[in-house]
Amino acid sequence: MSKVGEKTTAMPAPEIMPGGGIDPDLVKQDFPVLRQSINGHPLIYLDNAATTQKPVAVIKRLQTYYESDNANVHRGLHTLAERATDAFEATRDKIRSFINAGKREEIIYTRGATEAINLVAYTYGRQNVGPGDRIVITRMEHHANLIPWLELARQNKAELVYIPINSEGYLDLSEIDTIINNRTKIVALTHMSNVLGTINDVEEITALAHKKKAVCLIDGAQAVPHMPVDVQSLGADFYVFSAHKMLGPTGLGVLYGREELLQAMPPFNFGGEMISEVRFDKVTWNVLPWKFEAGTPAIAEAVAFAPALDYLENLGMENIRRHEIELTAYALSRLSELKHLTIYGPQNPEHRGGAIAFSDDKIHPHDMATFLDTQGIAVRAGHHCAQPLTRLLGVNSTTRASFYIYNNTNDIDTLHEALLAARRYFGHG
Ligand code: PLP
Repeated sequence: MSKVGEKTTAMPAPEIMPGGGIDPDLVKQDFPVLRQSINGHPLIYLDNAATTQKPVAVIKRLQTYYESDNANVHRGLHTLAERATDAFEATRDKIRSFINAGKREEIIYTRGATEAINLVAYTYGRQNVGPGDRIVITRMEHHANLIPWLELARQNKAELVYIPINSEGYLDLSEIDTIINNRTKIVALTHMSNVLGTINDVEEITALAHKKKAVCLIDGAQAVPHMPVDVQSLGADFYVFSAHKMLGPTGLGVLYGREELLQAMPPFNFGGEMISEVRFDKVTWNVLPWKFEAGTPAIAEAVAFAPALDYLENLGMENIRRHEIELTAYALSRLSELKHLTIYGPQNPEHRGGAIAFSDDKIHPHDMATFLDTQGIAVRAGHHCAQPLTRLLGVNSTTRASFYIYNNTNDIDTLHEALLAARRYFGHG
Protein backbone atom coordinates (compact mmCIF):
# COMPACT_ATOMS: atom_id res chain seq x y z
CA MET A 1 0.00 0.00 0.00
CA SER A 2 1.35 3.45 -0.80
CA LYS A 3 1.85 5.92 2.02
CA VAL A 4 0.11 9.27 2.19
CA GLY A 5 1.90 11.68 -0.14
CA GLU A 6 3.93 8.97 -1.84
CA LYS A 7 4.07 9.19 -5.63
CA THR A 8 4.34 5.91 -7.52
CA THR A 9 7.03 5.85 -10.19
CA ALA A 10 5.39 4.92 -13.46
CA MET A 11 7.03 1.98 -15.24
CA PRO A 12 6.54 2.17 -19.01
CA ALA A 13 3.33 0.19 -19.55
CA PRO A 14 3.46 -2.73 -22.01
CA GLU A 15 0.33 -1.25 -23.62
CA ILE A 16 2.41 1.70 -24.85
CA MET A 17 3.82 1.00 -28.29
CA PRO A 18 7.15 2.39 -29.48
CA GLY A 19 6.48 6.02 -30.38
CA GLY A 20 3.90 6.47 -27.64
CA GLY A 21 0.72 4.97 -29.12
CA ILE A 22 -1.62 2.87 -27.00
CA ASP A 23 -2.22 -0.75 -27.96
CA PRO A 24 -5.96 -1.07 -27.26
CA ASP A 25 -5.91 -4.85 -27.76
CA LEU A 26 -3.46 -5.25 -24.88
CA VAL A 27 -5.44 -2.76 -22.78
CA LYS A 28 -8.62 -4.74 -23.44
CA GLN A 29 -7.13 -7.82 -21.79
CA ASP A 30 -7.18 -5.99 -18.45
CA PHE A 31 -10.97 -5.53 -18.61
CA PRO A 32 -12.83 -8.76 -17.81
CA VAL A 33 -16.27 -7.40 -18.77
CA LEU A 34 -15.09 -6.90 -22.34
CA ARG A 35 -14.37 -10.61 -22.77
CA GLN A 36 -18.02 -11.54 -23.34
CA SER A 37 -20.41 -11.90 -26.22
CA ILE A 38 -23.70 -10.03 -26.35
CA ASN A 39 -26.45 -11.47 -28.55
CA GLY A 40 -23.92 -13.79 -30.18
CA HIS A 41 -21.39 -11.06 -31.02
CA PRO A 42 -18.20 -10.02 -29.21
CA LEU A 43 -19.10 -7.02 -27.04
CA ILE A 44 -18.03 -3.65 -28.42
CA TYR A 45 -18.47 -1.12 -25.67
CA LEU A 46 -19.01 2.40 -27.03
CA ASP A 47 -20.84 3.96 -24.10
CA ASN A 48 -17.81 5.33 -22.30
CA ALA A 49 -19.16 8.84 -21.89
CA ALA A 50 -21.85 7.34 -19.64
CA THR A 51 -19.42 5.20 -17.65
CA THR A 52 -16.20 3.31 -18.36
CA GLN A 53 -15.37 -0.31 -17.64
CA LYS A 54 -13.05 -1.29 -14.78
CA PRO A 55 -9.66 -2.96 -15.05
CA VAL A 56 -8.76 -6.03 -12.97
CA ALA A 57 -6.61 -3.88 -10.65
CA VAL A 58 -9.65 -1.83 -9.57
CA ILE A 59 -11.91 -4.85 -9.16
CA LYS A 60 -9.23 -6.67 -7.14
CA ARG A 61 -8.62 -3.67 -4.89
CA LEU A 62 -12.30 -3.49 -4.02
CA GLN A 63 -12.13 -7.17 -3.11
CA THR A 64 -8.88 -7.00 -1.09
CA TYR A 65 -10.14 -3.91 0.71
CA TYR A 66 -13.25 -5.75 1.90
CA GLU A 67 -11.32 -8.96 2.55
CA SER A 68 -8.54 -7.45 4.62
CA ASP A 69 -8.82 -3.73 5.41
CA ASN A 70 -12.49 -2.82 5.88
CA ALA A 71 -13.20 -0.32 8.67
CA ASN A 72 -14.62 3.16 9.07
CA VAL A 73 -12.16 5.99 8.49
CA HIS A 74 -10.72 8.66 10.78
CA ARG A 75 -12.37 7.51 14.00
CA GLY A 76 -10.82 4.16 14.83
CA LEU A 77 -7.74 3.45 16.87
CA HIS A 78 -7.36 -0.09 15.65
CA THR A 79 -5.23 -1.50 12.85
CA LEU A 80 -7.99 -1.93 10.29
CA ALA A 81 -9.21 1.63 10.85
CA GLU A 82 -5.67 2.90 10.33
CA ARG A 83 -5.25 0.89 7.15
CA ALA A 84 -8.58 2.05 5.75
CA THR A 85 -7.82 5.68 6.65
CA ASP A 86 -4.31 5.56 5.15
CA ALA A 87 -5.56 4.09 1.88
CA PHE A 88 -8.54 6.49 1.74
CA GLU A 89 -6.30 9.51 2.28
CA ALA A 90 -3.57 8.19 -0.05
CA THR A 91 -6.05 8.35 -2.95
CA ARG A 92 -6.65 12.02 -2.11
CA ASP A 93 -2.94 12.64 -2.63
CA LYS A 94 -2.98 10.79 -5.94
CA ILE A 95 -5.94 12.89 -7.10
CA ARG A 96 -4.14 16.06 -6.06
CA SER A 97 -1.15 15.16 -8.14
CA PHE A 98 -3.27 13.83 -11.07
CA ILE A 99 -4.88 17.24 -11.62
CA ASN A 100 -1.97 19.25 -10.19
CA ALA A 101 -3.91 20.90 -7.38
CA GLY A 102 -1.71 22.87 -4.99
CA LYS A 103 -2.80 21.18 -1.75
CA ARG A 104 -4.52 18.00 -0.57
CA GLU A 105 -6.94 20.19 1.43
CA GLU A 106 -8.34 21.36 -1.91
CA ILE A 107 -9.55 17.86 -2.86
CA ILE A 108 -13.05 17.10 -1.54
CA TYR A 109 -14.61 13.67 -2.01
CA THR A 110 -18.21 13.78 -3.24
CA ARG A 111 -20.65 11.23 -4.64
CA GLY A 112 -19.94 12.41 -8.18
CA ALA A 113 -19.57 15.44 -10.43
CA THR A 114 -23.27 16.19 -9.92
CA GLU A 115 -22.97 16.41 -6.15
CA ALA A 116 -19.78 18.47 -6.46
CA ILE A 117 -21.58 21.11 -8.56
CA ASN A 118 -24.54 21.10 -6.17
CA LEU A 119 -22.14 21.60 -3.28
CA VAL A 120 -20.74 24.76 -4.88
CA ALA A 121 -24.19 26.05 -5.88
CA TYR A 122 -25.61 25.51 -2.37
CA THR A 123 -22.67 26.92 -0.45
CA TYR A 124 -20.63 29.39 -2.49
CA GLY A 125 -23.65 30.20 -4.64
CA ARG A 126 -26.13 30.94 -1.88
CA GLN A 127 -23.54 32.97 -0.02
CA ASN A 128 -22.34 35.08 -2.95
CA VAL A 129 -25.13 35.40 -5.51
CA GLY A 130 -27.85 37.94 -4.74
CA PRO A 131 -30.78 39.64 -6.49
CA GLY A 132 -29.73 41.13 -9.82
CA ASP A 133 -26.42 39.24 -9.91
CA ARG A 134 -25.54 37.10 -12.87
CA ILE A 135 -24.58 33.46 -13.31
CA VAL A 136 -23.13 32.58 -16.71
CA ILE A 137 -23.16 29.06 -18.16
CA THR A 138 -23.17 27.75 -21.75
CA ARG A 139 -25.77 26.21 -24.00
CA MET A 140 -23.83 22.93 -24.10
CA GLU A 141 -24.09 21.96 -20.42
CA HIS A 142 -25.10 18.60 -19.02
CA HIS A 143 -28.12 18.94 -16.70
CA ALA A 144 -25.69 18.53 -13.78
CA ASN A 145 -24.15 21.88 -14.65
CA LEU A 146 -27.40 23.59 -15.61
CA ILE A 147 -30.16 22.77 -13.12
CA PRO A 148 -28.23 23.72 -9.93
CA TRP A 149 -27.64 27.18 -11.47
CA LEU A 150 -31.19 27.50 -12.76
CA GLU A 151 -32.41 26.76 -9.23
CA LEU A 152 -29.91 29.11 -7.59
CA ALA A 153 -30.88 31.91 -9.98
CA ARG A 154 -34.58 31.31 -9.27
CA GLN A 155 -34.17 31.16 -5.48
CA ASN A 156 -31.79 34.11 -5.17
CA LYS A 157 -33.47 36.20 -7.88
CA ALA A 158 -30.34 36.27 -10.02
CA GLU A 159 -30.06 36.16 -13.80
CA LEU A 160 -28.91 33.04 -15.62
CA VAL A 161 -27.27 33.94 -18.92
CA TYR A 162 -26.05 31.44 -21.52
CA ILE A 163 -22.98 31.65 -23.76
CA PRO A 164 -24.34 30.62 -27.20
CA ILE A 165 -22.83 28.03 -29.53
CA ASN A 166 -22.30 28.30 -33.27
CA SER A 167 -23.38 25.90 -36.01
CA GLU A 168 -20.07 24.02 -35.84
CA GLY A 169 -20.51 23.22 -32.16
CA TYR A 170 -18.04 25.73 -30.71
CA LEU A 171 -18.83 28.36 -28.09
CA ASP A 172 -19.65 31.68 -29.74
CA LEU A 173 -17.55 34.16 -27.78
CA SER A 174 -18.33 37.20 -29.94
CA GLU A 175 -20.45 38.83 -27.18
CA ILE A 176 -18.54 37.40 -24.24
CA ASP A 177 -17.48 40.80 -22.85
CA THR A 178 -21.09 41.79 -22.39
CA ILE A 179 -22.24 38.32 -21.27
CA ILE A 180 -19.69 38.14 -18.46
CA ASN A 181 -20.41 41.56 -16.97
CA ASN A 182 -19.59 43.27 -13.67
CA ARG A 183 -22.62 41.68 -11.97
CA THR A 184 -21.39 38.19 -12.82
CA LYS A 185 -20.54 36.15 -9.74
CA ILE A 186 -20.13 32.67 -11.18
CA VAL A 187 -19.18 31.33 -14.60
CA ALA A 188 -19.69 27.57 -14.96
CA LEU A 189 -18.88 25.58 -18.07
CA THR A 190 -18.02 22.15 -19.30
CA HIS A 191 -14.44 21.39 -20.24
CA MET A 192 -15.60 18.83 -22.82
CA SER A 193 -19.20 18.47 -24.04
CA ASN A 194 -20.76 15.04 -23.55
CA VAL A 195 -22.88 15.53 -26.69
CA LEU A 196 -20.82 17.62 -29.13
CA GLY A 197 -17.44 16.46 -27.91
CA THR A 198 -16.25 20.09 -28.07
CA ILE A 199 -13.24 20.90 -25.91
CA ASN A 200 -13.69 24.44 -24.65
CA ASP A 201 -10.90 26.96 -24.23
CA VAL A 202 -11.24 26.99 -20.48
CA GLU A 203 -8.17 29.13 -19.85
CA GLU A 204 -9.63 31.94 -21.92
CA ILE A 205 -12.95 31.84 -20.04
CA THR A 206 -11.39 31.67 -16.56
CA ALA A 207 -9.26 34.71 -17.44
CA LEU A 208 -12.33 36.64 -18.64
CA ALA A 209 -14.28 35.64 -15.52
CA HIS A 210 -11.45 36.73 -13.23
CA LYS A 211 -11.23 40.11 -14.96
CA LYS A 212 -14.82 40.68 -13.81
CA LYS A 213 -14.07 39.24 -10.34
CA ALA A 214 -16.28 36.21 -10.95
CA VAL A 215 -15.26 32.68 -9.97
CA CYS A 216 -15.15 29.92 -12.55
CA LEU A 217 -16.33 26.33 -12.10
CA ILE A 218 -15.26 23.79 -14.70
CA ASP A 219 -17.23 20.59 -15.22
CA GLY A 220 -14.45 18.15 -16.07
CA ALA A 221 -16.54 14.96 -16.04
CA GLN A 222 -15.70 14.30 -19.72
CA ALA A 223 -12.24 15.87 -19.74
CA VAL A 224 -10.20 14.43 -16.84
CA PRO A 225 -10.62 10.84 -18.09
CA HIS A 226 -9.38 11.72 -21.57
CA MET A 227 -6.67 14.38 -21.46
CA PRO A 228 -4.04 15.89 -19.16
CA VAL A 229 -5.68 18.42 -16.82
CA ASP A 230 -3.83 20.95 -14.69
CA VAL A 231 -6.35 22.88 -12.60
CA GLN A 232 -3.83 25.57 -11.71
CA SER A 233 -2.75 26.38 -15.25
CA LEU A 234 -6.41 26.36 -16.35
CA GLY A 235 -7.11 28.99 -13.70
CA ALA A 236 -10.06 26.97 -12.34
CA ASP A 237 -11.56 28.10 -9.05
CA PHE A 238 -13.60 24.90 -8.85
CA TYR A 239 -13.15 21.78 -10.97
CA VAL A 240 -15.36 18.67 -10.71
CA PHE A 241 -15.31 15.11 -12.06
CA SER A 242 -16.50 11.55 -11.40
CA ALA A 243 -14.36 8.45 -10.74
CA HIS A 244 -16.63 6.08 -12.66
CA LYS A 245 -15.95 7.79 -15.98
CA MET A 246 -12.21 7.13 -15.59
CA LEU A 247 -11.97 3.41 -14.71
CA GLY A 248 -12.88 3.95 -11.05
CA PRO A 249 -15.86 2.77 -8.99
CA THR A 250 -19.29 4.40 -9.04
CA GLY A 251 -20.45 6.59 -6.15
CA LEU A 252 -17.31 8.72 -5.95
CA GLY A 253 -16.54 12.14 -7.33
CA VAL A 254 -14.16 14.99 -6.74
CA LEU A 255 -14.53 18.67 -6.07
CA TYR A 256 -11.33 20.65 -6.43
CA GLY A 257 -11.67 24.13 -4.97
CA ARG A 258 -9.13 26.85 -4.30
CA GLU A 259 -8.34 26.74 -0.59
CA GLU A 260 -9.29 30.31 0.21
CA LEU A 261 -12.71 29.84 -1.40
CA LEU A 262 -13.34 26.54 0.40
CA GLN A 263 -12.27 28.11 3.69
CA ALA A 264 -14.83 30.87 3.34
CA MET A 265 -17.70 28.59 2.28
CA PRO A 266 -20.19 27.16 4.77
CA PRO A 267 -20.48 23.35 4.98
CA PHE A 268 -22.81 21.56 2.56
CA ASN A 269 -24.02 18.61 4.65
CA PHE A 270 -24.09 18.47 8.44
CA GLY A 271 -23.38 15.48 10.70
CA GLY A 272 -20.46 13.31 11.73
CA GLU A 273 -16.89 13.87 10.49
CA MET A 274 -17.39 17.49 9.42
CA ILE A 275 -17.18 18.95 12.93
CA SER A 276 -14.39 20.03 15.21
CA GLU A 277 -16.38 20.42 18.44
CA VAL A 278 -20.08 20.04 19.17
CA ARG A 279 -21.97 21.36 22.21
CA PHE A 280 -25.70 21.20 22.81
CA ASP A 281 -25.99 24.77 21.59
CA LYS A 282 -23.12 25.31 19.15
CA VAL A 283 -20.72 23.66 16.77
CA THR A 284 -17.40 24.41 15.09
CA TRP A 285 -16.44 22.96 11.72
CA ASN A 286 -13.65 20.56 10.93
CA VAL A 287 -10.69 21.76 8.86
CA LEU A 288 -10.46 21.18 5.11
CA PRO A 289 -11.10 18.87 3.38
CA TRP A 290 -13.27 17.10 5.97
CA LYS A 291 -15.50 20.15 6.58
CA PHE A 292 -17.27 19.11 3.37
CA GLU A 293 -17.30 15.35 3.99
CA ALA A 294 -20.15 14.70 6.44
CA GLY A 295 -20.97 11.10 7.30
CA THR A 296 -19.28 7.89 6.29
CA PRO A 297 -17.78 8.45 2.84
CA ALA A 298 -17.40 6.03 -0.09
CA ILE A 299 -14.34 4.41 1.48
CA ALA A 300 -13.91 1.28 -0.62
CA GLU A 301 -14.60 3.30 -3.76
CA ALA A 302 -11.95 5.89 -2.89
CA VAL A 303 -9.43 3.17 -2.03
CA ALA A 304 -10.08 1.38 -5.34
CA PHE A 305 -9.87 4.63 -7.30
CA ALA A 306 -6.10 4.66 -6.68
CA PRO A 307 -5.33 1.75 -9.06
CA ALA A 308 -7.55 3.45 -11.68
CA LEU A 309 -5.41 6.58 -11.46
CA ASP A 310 -2.24 4.46 -11.56
CA TYR A 311 -3.54 2.69 -14.65
CA LEU A 312 -4.20 5.96 -16.46
CA GLU A 313 -0.87 7.43 -15.35
CA ASN A 314 1.01 4.37 -16.54
CA LEU A 315 -0.58 4.72 -19.97
CA GLY A 316 0.08 8.46 -19.86
CA MET A 317 -2.67 11.03 -20.32
CA GLU A 318 -0.90 12.50 -23.38
CA ASN A 319 -0.87 9.04 -24.98
CA ILE A 320 -4.55 8.56 -24.12
CA ARG A 321 -5.42 11.89 -25.70
CA ARG A 322 -3.44 11.04 -28.83
CA HIS A 323 -5.11 7.61 -29.10
CA GLU A 324 -8.53 9.26 -28.86
CA ILE A 325 -7.72 11.92 -31.46
CA GLU A 326 -6.74 9.13 -33.87
CA LEU A 327 -9.87 7.11 -33.13
CA THR A 328 -12.10 10.20 -33.37
CA ALA A 329 -10.55 11.21 -36.70
CA TYR A 330 -11.12 7.68 -38.01
CA ALA A 331 -14.70 7.55 -36.70
CA LEU A 332 -15.59 10.97 -38.15
CA SER A 333 -14.27 9.94 -41.52
CA ARG A 334 -16.01 6.50 -41.54
CA LEU A 335 -19.33 7.86 -40.26
CA SER A 336 -19.33 10.77 -42.71
CA GLU A 337 -19.27 8.20 -45.56
CA LEU A 338 -22.87 7.46 -44.52
CA LYS A 339 -24.72 10.34 -46.10
CA HIS A 340 -27.94 9.63 -44.22
CA LEU A 341 -26.22 10.48 -40.92
CA THR A 342 -25.98 13.90 -39.33
CA ILE A 343 -22.91 14.09 -37.10
CA TYR A 344 -22.89 16.75 -34.40
CA GLY A 345 -20.00 18.78 -33.03
CA PRO A 346 -16.67 20.02 -34.39
CA GLN A 347 -15.27 18.16 -37.41
CA ASN A 348 -11.66 18.76 -36.32
CA PRO A 349 -10.64 15.87 -34.03
CA GLU A 350 -8.01 18.06 -32.34
CA HIS A 351 -10.82 20.28 -31.02
CA ARG A 352 -13.00 17.56 -29.60
CA GLY A 353 -13.15 14.34 -27.63
CA GLY A 354 -14.34 10.93 -28.68
CA ALA A 355 -18.02 11.27 -27.79
CA ILE A 356 -19.78 11.39 -31.16
CA ALA A 357 -23.53 12.03 -31.31
CA PHE A 358 -25.28 11.43 -34.61
CA SER A 359 -28.71 10.83 -36.08
CA ASP A 360 -29.97 8.74 -38.97
CA ASP A 361 -32.50 10.55 -41.17
CA LYS A 362 -34.93 7.57 -41.05
CA ILE A 363 -34.25 5.54 -37.91
CA HIS A 364 -35.14 6.75 -34.41
CA PRO A 365 -32.09 6.80 -32.08
CA HIS A 366 -33.76 4.37 -29.66
CA ASP A 367 -34.43 1.90 -32.48
CA MET A 368 -30.86 2.37 -33.66
CA ALA A 369 -29.39 1.69 -30.20
CA THR A 370 -31.60 -1.38 -29.78
CA PHE A 371 -30.57 -2.69 -33.19
CA LEU A 372 -26.87 -2.08 -32.44
CA ASP A 373 -27.28 -4.05 -29.21
CA THR A 374 -28.45 -7.05 -31.26
CA GLN A 375 -25.03 -6.76 -32.96
CA GLY A 376 -23.18 -6.64 -29.62
CA ILE A 377 -22.52 -2.89 -29.81
CA ALA A 378 -23.33 -0.77 -26.74
CA VAL A 379 -24.12 2.89 -27.51
CA ARG A 380 -26.37 5.45 -25.87
CA ALA A 381 -29.51 7.02 -27.29
CA GLY A 382 -31.52 9.88 -25.87
CA HIS A 383 -30.89 13.48 -24.88
CA HIS A 384 -27.76 12.53 -22.90
CA CYS A 385 -28.90 14.68 -19.96
CA ALA A 386 -28.64 17.76 -22.15
CA GLN A 387 -32.23 18.35 -23.25
CA PRO A 388 -31.93 22.07 -24.08
CA LEU A 389 -28.84 21.40 -26.23
CA THR A 390 -30.48 18.46 -28.00
CA ARG A 391 -33.49 20.68 -28.81
CA LEU A 392 -31.13 23.35 -30.07
CA LEU A 393 -29.76 20.75 -32.49
CA GLY A 394 -33.31 20.40 -33.78
CA VAL A 395 -33.95 16.87 -32.51
CA ASN A 396 -35.35 15.15 -29.42
CA SER A 397 -32.60 12.60 -29.16
CA THR A 398 -29.43 11.36 -30.81
CA THR A 399 -27.37 8.17 -30.85
CA ARG A 400 -23.95 8.55 -29.21
CA ALA A 401 -20.85 6.40 -29.64
CA SER A 402 -18.05 7.24 -27.21
CA PHE A 403 -14.57 5.76 -27.11
CA TYR A 404 -11.91 4.95 -24.57
CA ILE A 405 -8.51 3.31 -24.20
CA TYR A 406 -9.71 -0.21 -25.08
CA ASN A 407 -11.43 0.76 -28.35
CA ASN A 408 -9.76 0.35 -31.73
CA THR A 409 -10.48 1.10 -35.38
CA ASN A 410 -12.02 -2.37 -35.84
CA ASP A 411 -14.72 -1.35 -33.36
CA ILE A 412 -15.49 1.64 -35.57
CA ASP A 413 -15.56 -0.49 -38.71
CA THR A 414 -17.99 -2.86 -37.00
CA LEU A 415 -20.14 0.11 -35.95
CA HIS A 416 -20.09 1.38 -39.55
CA GLU A 417 -21.25 -2.00 -40.88
CA ALA A 418 -23.96 -2.27 -38.22
CA LEU A 419 -25.27 1.21 -39.07
CA LEU A 420 -25.66 0.05 -42.66
CA ALA A 421 -27.25 -3.21 -41.52
CA ALA A 422 -29.76 -1.16 -39.51
CA ARG A 423 -30.80 0.64 -42.72
CA ARG A 424 -31.47 -2.72 -44.37
CA TYR A 425 -33.25 -4.10 -41.31
CA PHE A 426 -35.60 -1.11 -41.07
CA GLY A 427 -36.30 -1.16 -44.83
CA HIS A 428 -34.22 1.86 -45.89
CA GLY A 429 -31.31 -0.08 -47.39
N1 PLP B 1 -21.10 16.62 -16.56
C1 PLP B 1 -20.93 15.99 -17.73
C2 PLP B 1 -20.35 16.74 -18.89
C3 PLP B 1 -21.29 14.65 -17.85
O1 PLP B 1 -21.13 14.02 -19.02
C4 PLP B 1 -21.84 13.99 -16.72
C5 PLP B 1 -22.29 12.59 -16.83
O2 PLP B 1 -22.56 12.07 -17.88
C6 PLP B 1 -21.98 14.70 -15.53
C7 PLP B 1 -21.60 16.02 -15.48
C8 PLP B 1 -22.56 14.07 -14.30
O3 PLP B 1 -21.73 13.06 -13.82
P1 PLP B 1 -22.24 12.11 -12.64
O4 PLP B 1 -23.55 11.54 -13.10
O5 PLP B 1 -21.16 11.09 -12.51
O6 PLP B 1 -22.40 12.96 -11.42
